[in-house]
Amino acid sequence: MKKVVKFGGSSLASAEQFQKVGNIIHADASRKYVVPSAPGKRFSSDTKVTDMLYGCYELAVSGEDFTQKLEAIKARYQQIIDGLSLTISLDGEFETIYKNFSGKAGRDYAASRGEYLNGIIMAEYLGFEFIDAALVIRFREDGTFDDETTNELLAERLKDSCGAVIPGFYGSKEDETIVTFSRGGSDITGSLVALAVKADLYENWTDVSGFLIADPRIVKNPKAIETITYKELRELSYMGASVLHEDAIFPVRKAGIPINIRNTNAPEDEGTMIVEGTCRKPKYTITGIAGTDGFVSITVEKAMMNSEIGFCRKVLQVFEENNISIEHMPSGIDTMTIFVHKDVFEDKEQQVISGIHKAVNPDHIELETDLALIAVVGRGMKATRGTAGRIFSALAHAHINVKMIDQGSSELNIIIGVRHEDFKNAIRALYEIFVETLI
Ligand code: ADP
Ligand code: ASP
Ligand code: MG
Repeated sequence: MKKVVKFGGSSLASAEQFQKVGNIIHADASRKYVVPSAPGKRFSSDTKVTDMLYGCYELAVSGEDFTQKLEAIKARYQQIIDGLSLTISLDGEFETIYKNFSGKAGRDYAASRGEYLNGIIMAEYLGFEFIDAALVIRFREDGTFDDETTNELLAERLKDSCGAVIPGFYGSKEDETIVTFSRGGSDITGSLVALAVKADLYENWTDVSGFLIADPRIVKNPKAIETITYKELRELSYMGASVLHEDAIFPVRKAGIPINIRNTNAPEDEGTMIVEGTCRKPKYTITGIAGTDGFVSITVEKAMMNSEIGFCRKVLQVFEENNISIEHMPSGIDTMTIFVHKDVFEDKEQQVISGIHKAVNPDHIELETDLALIAVVGRGMKATRGTAGRIFSALAHAHINVKMIDQGSSELNIIIGVRHEDFKNAIRALYEIFVETLI
């Protein structure tokens, strides 16, 4: 049995957390490959080391003195080293980092040092070998991730290892330039290591007891999901359930390796199993609810639009030409509506509107801002009648105006559009009707 274990920032924020992690790893000899994040927040107003590094590097780039900020970062690590009674010194590493910051080695290089240094401490603490992710996680010249080369490098490097620490979040190009994944990317590294060593299980340890039915920052004490499929998870992650990076699913899914989300602070909890398929019936009609705020909808109206061949393509092309990705697109007979992220759309709105006018000569274009999209996801919905009805009645009961409702063709999810101010209440109302009200 081989397990890859990834620990998130809050699991490694202090020496005390490191000790919990050490106990978890030592409790099971199959936990041989460890992927650490950078130290996260120790308390809610604390700053993640990754953010401290970004801030410090900004000073370096603008030619300001960054020594104090770098010292504060060093102090975070020193506290962990001292708390664990280790004798290693990071002086040499920090001299190199200072030099490279002064030489403007790049924002990604700066951020990557968070996991790099944490990996060194973790390897020392566990007595495992340290493998710099720059040697085994490969990005192409254009900055895109190179999955094939990475898999070869990782498999080769790890094939005889009896215990290794591979820091998460970064890798390098062939010319040794450091590149990071997007935020939360240590989850991806864990998944890549699991694929390369053909692990039996990828354990992803965080600060909640699994993937919860709704965001715990919105719903109080939501229940954890016992088993969820990759497909369901993808829908939820895409729609903002941020517990696992959405790109972390692909590598393990390809190899049929399940992911187990676990809680470092409650290791006895079984957490959530993420699997390819399951015959286990979900406990509720829905598996989970997730949502994202900050959308704009653009509704294009034209009489007889449906019979105009190429109409949708022409409209969509305008978005493509302006490099705007489309999030959602419900349509009617004479209207089509396009949902896009407000922050991407805002600067280009006038170009897009005039582009649509030129392309299809519509009767009317209407914009609506400050919208939120909520996904209600569940493999059990297919077999249950009246799900959309329950959604409508729950939201109506909570006095929430539904701007849009759209059932995906997979029958795995229903997307609901609401106004920004109704966003949290809508999620609470949906949780209540599907989880707390037993019908
Ligand atoms: P880590 O630092 O371990 O990678 P993250 O902060 O990336 O952890 O993810 C865990 C956090 O995700 C939780 O603390 C929680 O606040 C948030 N979260 C949002 N939606 C959900 C959900 N549906 N289930 C569990 N956690 C969620
Ligand atoms: N430390 C990085 C971040 O804060 C990566 C991660 O935690 O997964 O985004
Ligand atoms: Mg994370």
